[in-house]
Amino acid sequence: MTSARTAHLFLDRLSPNRLTICLHGLVAALLTVTLPTTADAHRRHQTPRAQTPVWFTHAALGDGIWTISDNGVDRMYLVEGQTHALLVDTGVGFADINAYARSLTDLPLLVVNSHAHPDHAGGNTDFHHVHLHADEPETLAHFTSKTNMRHTYNAFLDRPLPERLARLEADDYPELTLIQEGFVFELGQRNIEVLHTPGHTPGSIVLHDLGSGAMLTGDTVIGRAWLHPPLATSVEDFLMGLERIEARKDRITRFLPGHGEPLPVEFLDSLIGTAEAILSGACEGESHTTHIGAALLCEYEGAGIVFDPERIHNPD
Ligand SMILES: [Zn+2]
Ligand SMILES: [Zn+2]
Repeated sequence: MTSARTAHLFLDRLSPNRLTICLHGLVAALLTVTLPTTADAHRRHQTPRAQTPVWFTHAALGDGIWTISDNGVDRMYLVEGQTHALLVDTGVGFADINAYARSLTDLPLLVVNSHAHPDHAGGNTDFHHVHLHADEPETLAHFTSKTNMRHTYNAFLDRPLPERLARLEADDYPELTLIQEGFVFELGQRNIEVLHTPGHTPGSIVLHDLGSGAMLTGDTVIGRAWLHPPLATSVEDFLMGLERIEARKDRITRFLPGHGEPLPVEFLDSLIGTAEAILSGACEGESHTTHIGAALLCEYEGAGIVFDPERIHNPD
C-alpha cells in the first residue's frame, strides 16, 4: 500500500525533528522581521515597521472544505454549507484562529473539537461557544489548564506560553455544548454526523460529511495513532471505534486527519489490522520513545499505533 506508506512517512506528526525544523523556520522568520540589520534600520530612519509573522496558512481541498495549517503543528478544517460553516479544532492557540477562520468565510461559524488535546483545543478561548463530546470535559480541563499549556509550549513547541494565553482568566473560556454519537451539524444543504471513537482520548470523535463522504478524523484515523497519553483509554476501545467507521466505509471518500495529508479509505484496513495484531498478541510492539514518554509501537502497512501495554484490553 504505497500511498498509505508514503502518507505514514509524511505523517509522523509529533516527530520532534520535524517540529524542530518547522520551529527553526519560524524563528528565522521572526528574526527576519524583528531584528533588521543596522543598515536596514538606518535606511528606515531607525523605525522599522512592525510586521506580524505568518502563523496560519490554508488550502482548499475541494467540496467546500478548507484545511488550515497551525504553522505545521496540526491541521484544522473549515467546512462550508449554505447557511453555516463548521470549524473542526482550534489548534495550539498561538494566534487568533477565530479571526483567521472568519477571514475565510462570511457564514456564521460553529466550532467543534475532535478531541481536547492542547494542539486541537488550545485556541478554544478565541470563541464564546465550542462543541465537545460529552466524555471529553475532563480531558479538556486536564490538557488545556494553564500549567499543561505552558508545559506543551515548552516541551512540544520549544517556546514559552504566548502572552495571549498566559493572561487568560476563568471567564475567557468558552461555553461548551456537549454532544453525543449521532449528533448532526446542519450547515444548510450539508450535514456533518458525529461518531464517537474513544481510544486516543475518552471523547474523541470523527465527523462524517454525509454529502461529500469526507471524514474528519482528528487523531483517530491518522498515520500514527497515539494510545499512550494520559487519559487515553485502550486499544480495545480504539478498535471498536474503527469498526464503527468501517461499517460505513462504502460511504467514505477520504480521511482528513488532524495531522498530515488526506488518507485514502483503504488506510482504515491497515489501522484496523494493526489494532487487531496488538489485541491478539501477534504484534508485541517495539519500544518507542515520544516526547510524552516511553511506550510500544506496532506498525502494519504504513499504519502505526503507539500504545501502553497496560492499556491494551479494557478492565473486566
Ligand atoms: Zn490528540
Ligand atoms: Zn494532535
